[in-house]
Amino acid sequence: MISAASLRNLGFGSIIVPAGGLPLDLLKRRVTYRRHTFAVQVLSYALGAAALLAYVHAGTIATTIPSAFFLCGVVLIGIFAVLSETHFNDRFEDHYLAVFQVGGHTAIQLGFLLAAPQIGYAFLNVLFLIFGVASLRMTPRQATTAWTLTTLSVAAIFLCLRTPIGMPANTTPERLAAALCFVLTIGQCVFVGLYGDSLRKKLYNRGLKLKKAYSRIEELAELDELTGSYNRRCIMRMLDEEIARAHRFKTPCSIALIDLDWFKRINDAYGHPTGDEVLRTFAITTFANIRNIDRFGRYGGEEFLLVLPETSTDSAKHHLERLRQIIADLDWSAFSPGMQVTISAGVTTLQPDETPDIFLARADRALYSAKARGRNRIASV
Ligand code: GH3
Ligand code: MG
Ligand code: MG
Repeated sequence: MISAASLRNLGFGSIIVPAGGLPLDLLKRRVTYRRHTFAVQVLSYALGAAALLAYVHAGTIATTIPSAFFLCGVVLIGIFAVLSETHFNDRFEDHYLAVFQVGGHTAIQLGFLLAAPQIGYAFLNVLFLIFGVASLRMTPRQATTAWTLTTLSVAAIFLCLRTPIGMPANTTPERLAAALCFVLTIGQCVFVGLYGDSLRKKLYNRGLKLKKAYSRIEELAELDELTGSYNRRCIMRMLDEEIARAHRFKTPCSIALIDLDWFKRINDAYGHPTGDEVLRTFAITTFANIRNIDRFGRYGGEEFLLVLPETSTDSAKHHLERLRQIIADLDWSAFSPGMQVTISAGVTTLQPDETPDIFLARADRALYSAKARGRNRIASV
């Protein structure tokens, strides 16, 4: 049996086996795809043999030629089918064994070119088809190797064969047989083209799906699962970016650390799931009341960070005061009768050359002061 190493030595290094086992469903799918291609190949040989029968009818060749042609094709396909069913193919990256299939089928055509040179072009025709199909699967290196070997073989036959290679069209049956051979090959080439096009479309659609899935993964990686706001990692990155921008363009940048007041009591009184709903509602309400350029994320627990680019302290305090009022005025009794939710926030504005840590520490101090002064208020430092 041919080993992977010996195949590499033959110059087909890129077809070496992927290490480790492949998933079972993938193997099954591959076998199914290969079965389809084998069925199409058998059909193709049957059509080819039928076209050759027209030459038998015209008296150009013996009956044995089409039968032997069909038989050789089926035997070769059978060998590849056995290899496929026993998963021999799956040891190779090129699991269609395209190069070997090209080699086998080309050898059949050239063999029959020698056996019946008087209709040699009928077999040479098929080479277009073989290479058309195989080039969908081969690497450029494999295709070049296969093409070179075929060229050398064809050249040798053309130069050494004494009998003229032909495609007789002297009588009407012969003309019909020749036309049939060409028309069949053209039809099969169209089929290959359409198949290639369907593969391209499939790949394109798969690419689109992957792109969508990737952006969804990216989105999920940036969002806090509970509130839908940016998660801590993401909001901190955004804070870094806004600080860098503010330093570069010398524009003001403010932040607010927002904390829900007495949230532990809400959890204790109404239960954790209701607490979660409160957090979600707070986040949605905040989103609805901030500008497009503002960045809002969960800093941790019931504490959130709002980044307000191009915003002075006064303007930030104004925004936060408005948000505080909106939260306080929400009808929280819809969650549970008597429920009241308020927020406190510490607001501060970036100083020249300030780092994120110092900036945040100042906002935290402001928040502490808002809490100390009785909560449900905005404080600034
Ligand atoms: P303060 O006004 O001083 O901020 O009081 P507080 O009760 O809000 O603050 P404390 O730090 O004592 O409690 C915060 C609570 O928030 C405790 C914790 O269980 C709750 N919490 C944190 N994350 C979540 C969450 O994702 N869901 C729910 N339901 N509760 C949370
Ligand atoms: Mg709190
Ligand atoms: Mg807190």
